[in-house]
Amino acid sequence: MKIKILIVIFALFICTAIPPVMAQNAELPVYIVQPGDTMYSIALQFGVSIDDIIGVNAGINPDWLNEGDQINIPGYEGIKGIFIPYTIQLNDTYESLLQEQILDESTFRIINHLTSPNEIIAGQTIILPVAEEVPSEPVAEVPVAYHSLFLNAIGANPNTWAGEVSTLSRNLVLTSELKSITNLTISPYPLKQGKTSVFQFNADPGQSIELKIEDKSIPTFEFEPGSYIAFLGINAMGKIGLREVNFDQITPDGNQVIFSQNLLASETRFSTDPIIVVEPDLIDPANTMPEEDELLAITSQITNRDLWDGTFSYPVDDACIRSPYGSIRSYNNGPYDSFHTGIDFGTCASNLNIYAAGAGRVVYTGQWFVRGNSVVIDHGWGIYTGYWHQESVDVNTGDIVQEGQLIGTVGNTGRSTGSHLHWELLVNAVQVDPMQWMDMVIP
Ligand SMILES: [Zn+2]
Repeated sequence: MKIKILIVIFALFICTAIPPVMAQNAELPVYIVQPGDTMYSIALQFGVSIDDIIGVNAGINPDWLNEGDQINIPGYEGIKGIFIPYTIQLNDTYESLLQEQILDESTFRIINHLTSPNEIIAGQTIILPVAEEVPSEPVAEVPVAYHSLFLNAIGANPNTWAGEVSTLSRNLVLTSELKSITNLTISPYPLKQGKTSVFQFNADPGQSIELKIEDKSIPTFEFEPGSYIAFLGINAMGKIGLREVNFDQITPDGNQVIFSQNLLASETRFSTDPIIVVEPDLIDPANTMPEEDELLAITSQITNRDLWDGTFSYPVDDACIRSPYGSIRSYNNGPYDSFHTGIDFGTCASNLNIYAAGAGRVVYTGQWFVRGNSVVIDHGWGIYTGYWHQESVDVNTGDIVQEGQLIGTVGNTGRSTGSHLHWELLVNAVQVDPMQWMDMVIP
């Protein structure tokens, strides 16, 4: 009698245990039920009705979902695979998620109700559509743990634009063909105070592509069909940490494509000069700003081809450096808020000759208040060199000069406390360390 009762109870237990719901339709994507999910929340997540979910999941009990149940999601015909919840990690970006997960962007946006890549925020849970068989993608050979996938991809040099990434200023635009910028390299990376980072990438020939760091535009140049280059100069006191860099592309069919990525800018330790004491009128902005503005205007002009060849060379015969680039300066007990924008060469050779550091076109000759007798040479591609405090100037504005051509003699004119040549190199109007350009060969 007791045994019979036990058998009945056991039989009842077996009958009431609910088997897990398994997806039945291989043509539809599958969602795996998570703790806390209800039929209502799932319907809301995927923008479908409860009835439609029931309709494609025969035998499902909408009031009794279990964690781990697999249910088909209607309305996504043609998409196979599994929808899984994913918590966004610190280094994830909209673009890295698309690339890493090999996502269909349209589906990704719809199921997560995304209207902008800016809605990807660390800690948030999203739904990732994951193919059941994920094809292997090239990955960086030595991934750096704290780099985003994008930065690791730069290291490995695959197509970093495998995802479909395209935004207009206000609206996300979905254009699946825009996988157009490939083989991007940034050297050096991280960006560094005082250094010039060279960006090179491939794209279809004839594109109009602009690089932007924050609000500043950096031109790109197509140096051979389909190969582009751009120069990003960071001044010695430039902001460190994350710098927002955008690629702004106008495609031949008139679409604007913007790809945005934070890049790391690192600190360079420059020396601090003793306080420099000068006559107050030599640092009065009323005197200094007009020529600052003039230099900025001159060096912001862009010549769309490179006029120089290979590396730059020293502008004097004996390159005895009296003061290096970048040292942090204070004038007349003021704040240390300026830096030495070039290299000072003493008068160490048996002559006072000053030579063009590279081939180019003379775009300024004249006398400035602070810089004294000056020459500015345009080398093309936004690269300029400046030669200050000259005794004499032996070229004229408009002259084409060759590397090593005599352009003047060393002097002590302008805000100068002894005969020397101040030589500087500007990249898109930013004074950078010229020494890097003495051994950097540009294609
Ligand atoms: Zn100087």
